[in-house]
Amino acid sequence: MSTFERHYDIIIIGTGAGGGTLVYRLAATGKKILVLERGDFLPREKANWNALEVYQKERYHTDDHWYDKDGKAFRPQTGYWVGGNTKVYGAALLRLRERDFEAVIHKTGISPAWELKYRDFEPYYTQAEKLYDVHGKRGADPTEPPATEDYPYAPVSHEPDMQALTDSIRNLGYYPFHLPLGLKLNEVDRALSPCIRCDTFDGYPCLVGAKADAEVNAIRPAREAYSNLTLLTGAKVLKLHTSESGREITAVEVEIAHDRPASSHGTPPMTGAPARVEVQQFSADIVVVACGAINSAALLLKSANDKHPDGLANRSDQVGRNFMKHQAIALVSLGTKPNRAVFQKTIAVNDFYWGEPDFPYPMGMVQNTGNVLADMLPAESPPLLAPYVKLVPEFGLQLVAERAVGWWLQVEDLPDPNNRVRIVGNQLHLDYTLNNTEAAARLIHRWTSVLKSANEETKHVIPFSIYPRSHVPVQAVGHQCGTCRFGSDPNTSVLDLNCRTHDVDNLYVVDGGFFPSNSGVNPTLTIMANALRVGDHLAERMK
Ligand SMILES: Cc1cc2nc3c(=O)[nH]c(=O)nc-3n(C[C@H](O)[C@H](O)[C@H](O)COP(=O)(O)OP(=O)(O)OC[C@H]3O[C@@H](n4cnc5c(N)ncnc54)[C@H](O)[C@@H]3O)c2cc1C
Ligand code: SF4
Repeated sequence: MSTFERHYDIIIIGTGAGGGTLVYRLAATGKKILVLERGDFLPREKANWNALEVYQKERYHTDDHWYDKDGKAFRPQTGYWVGGNTKVYGAALLRLRERDFEAVIHKTGISPAWELKYRDFEPYYTQAEKLYDVHGKRGADPTEPPATEDYPYAPVSHEPDMQALTDSIRNLGYYPFHLPLGLKLNEVDRALSPCIRCDTFDGYPCLVGAKADAEVNAIRPAREAYSNLTLLTGAKVLKLHTSESGREITAVEVEIAHDRPASSHGTPPMTGAPARVEVQQFSADIVVVACGAINSAALLLKSANDKHPDGLANRSDQVGRNFMKHQAIALVSLGTKPNRAVFQKTIAVNDFYWGEPDFPYPMGMVQNTGNVLADMLPAESPPLLAPYVKLVPEFGLQLVAERAVGWWLQVEDLPDPNNRVRIVGNQLHLDYTLNNTEAAARLIHRWTSVLKSANEETKHVIPFSIYPRSHVPVQAVGHQCGTCRFGSDPNTSVLDLNCRTHDVDNLYVVDGGFFPSNSGVNPTLTIMANALRVGDHLAERMK
């Protein structure tokens, strides 16, 4: 029998960018807060920085299987940890552009307007940049929105080879800028810097706790400073129960894991089936679901009851729909000379964000990725690398990797009601068909030609060989959003503008689910800013 109290002022389910930030914001209210997180603390171990373990063996991804639109099972690239997916994210923390909040005409459709505007989010972006240690430089990104304050920290410097590449891109007439990054880096006194500028940043957990993630920057300080928080890990929420009227959540049903063994991948992380589970119910005046866009929708759909036959808070039939995840294209450019930069992820380019004179539609954003290491290149890479290997046949993967620069092209995918999360029996189905692909094809073409002109050493630009195709596949759900969009009309949106469900008075969703459209920039700073915004509303409501 549990020794935990049963009733709280507020229950927050999930500790990622949304839930973790909300916990931080509400901790100071003194309210009794229960935080339920299905994962554990991500173990600190040497494998954190091992490319083979992280990329090829997917050590920190869940063992869950979901199903694609053809009913084919896949293992999603998502992890369940205290801190959620921010434990492995690339920490590129950008604000949406002002125009992203308006209706935007794309080549193949319209990205709908948000009912709140950039000015409503601006103060919270400023707070989120402080909370998550963002390093950047204002005034260099031609599309950047106005900001009331400077970045809290100076931009992460380019190492000489990346500076040379930046200069070459600039000499072609473009405006490369320092990618804003959330990390604890002190470049003035490197001896005092928690971050060591290593080559295993993007997609890896940080072994030394220097990445600004939701565990390190939000959950940990909140727990250290306040005693009104109870965090239960290994606590997977199965279902939300309502009163007879269906207007309030009366119980949160949780499966609590005890004595979790090693995972199927070997030693920890602890994702394997636990030796013992107990199911418990908790209640609260307010319940916040922050499980990530896909799992939050899944939880609402699984919580169907007599009053909510199509899923909880789903009178609009919008729960799970309009799932978005960006069209993401991973490229590597290969030169004949080694790239000596240890920490490469410092360049971003937005010159094509809103299109070009002969393609006046949004194309998206270009960023460079963390280092491409030989152990990230799987078995299928040689055919993709064949042109390069033919050129210099004595090169093995190691030598190829040393000459590579990784690029990440990110293009908006448009909300489509048929791109959706469905629950069939107990299985999660993710129907997703790429759209707006002409903009992506255009960006790939343009960026490839820029790279070839920028550096005459760049002999080849090829799809990154983690993936057999250039577009990242359905299982890459890192940028998941939509599924519970916010708006003032209960017929077309799931959440109101405070992210409270239209149908259930004490139920909120505070993660990437609320996005009505996903823009071409990375989503997480907006998820964090929104959590701070909703936090203000909840603090007021609980007074
Ligand atoms: C490899 C990678 C790189 C990325 N790089 C960037 C980047 O550079 N910039 C950027 O902006 N974004 C990046 N992202 C995306 C970023 O991680 C997400 O946008 C962000 O974490 C989403 O926040 P969230 O709160 O919506 O969900 P999550 O962070 O996924 O948090 C959801 C939480 O809910 C928990 N949970 C789920 N179901 C349940 C349940 N039933 N019961 C209890 N708990 C549950 C999960 O364990 C998790 O802790 C990246 C993602 C990945 C995977
Ligand atoms: S670059 Fe810095 S923050 Fe990133 S993993 Fe290495 S030490 Fe950690």
